Amino acid sequence: MENCLFCRIISGEIPSERVYEDELMVGFKDINPVAPTHILFVPKKHIASLEASEDEDFLLYAKMLKVIRDYAKENGFSEAGYRVINNCNANGGQDVYHIHFHLVAGRQMQWPPG
Ligand code: AMP
Ligand code: ZN
Repeated sequence: MENCLFCRIISGEIPSERVYEDELMVGFKDINPVAPTHILFVPKKHIASLEASEDEDFLLYAKMLKVIRDYAKENGFSEAGYRVINNCNANGGQDVYHIHFHLVAGRQMQWPPG
């Protein structure tokens, strides 16, 4: 997916501050953080959105959630808490159509979201 921003970040063509990588996914700092910690976890496989996912992709998302949980634990904000977000399609506020989970932490989150 040569025109996909996150595919280009995954390949290294566009620089990012990578904080996590394994064979399935990468985690990098959001360029416009909304909290003291704001990481985007993205699969190496190009999947446009949660809505566009195939059944087999949900095993990948389960693995991603475990990595996010472990990342929070290793970085010391598990107990205080954090938020994991997926924005899906236009009403969900999705801007980049390569599925990603936001991990935000380091301040009190509000509800409902904007
Ligand atoms: P979403 O609105 O859920 O699609 O989120 C897209 C996120 O990507 C936003 O939080 C942006 O700040 C972030 N973003 C856009 N470009 C970059 C980039 N080059 N490096 C890191 N994060 C980015
Ligand atoms: Zn992509």
